Amino acid sequence: MKCIVDYVEEIKKKHNSNNPFEICKLLDIDVIYINLPKKVKGFYVKFFDSQFIYINCDIEEQEKKYVCAHELGHALFHAEINSIFIKDKTLVNSAKLENEADLFAACLLLNDDMFDYEKTGFTTIDQIALFSGVEKRLVQMKIDRAM
Ligand SMILES: [Zn+2]
Repeated sequence: MKCIVDYVEEIKKKHNSNNPFEICKLLDIDVIYINLPKKVKGFYVKFFDSQFIYINCDIEEQEKKYVCAHELGHALFHAEINSIFIKDKTLVNSAKLENEADLFAACLLLNDDMFDYEKTGFTTIDQIALFSGVEKRLVQMKIDRAM
């Protein structure tokens, strides 16, 4: 499998965007907002040749963006596995898949500029997380893998 970090950079360049909603549109992946139980933030489904990302309509805008990016990661890297089933099936190495989708989201949502002290003046993960609206956990992930 292609390195996720490099792949995300290709996607950003190709579509001239790091907005997961725009990229879904360009890739013909339907994003649908629906009522879901509180603990389910979203999931990805492939149905024949159509791909769908469902997002819990009650979560905050910033979190919707993360969920969309995470599910887009599943759509691109785990296209044949419907993510709603991942958590229930111990057959699949679910932790690995979830990590890959999170790494994808972290790299998509956080541009390298964000880590450039000269440009941003940010010196801590907290500052970057607060400014970008991306969870600290993901900021750390990007630092560990891409820097
Ligand atoms: Zn997932």
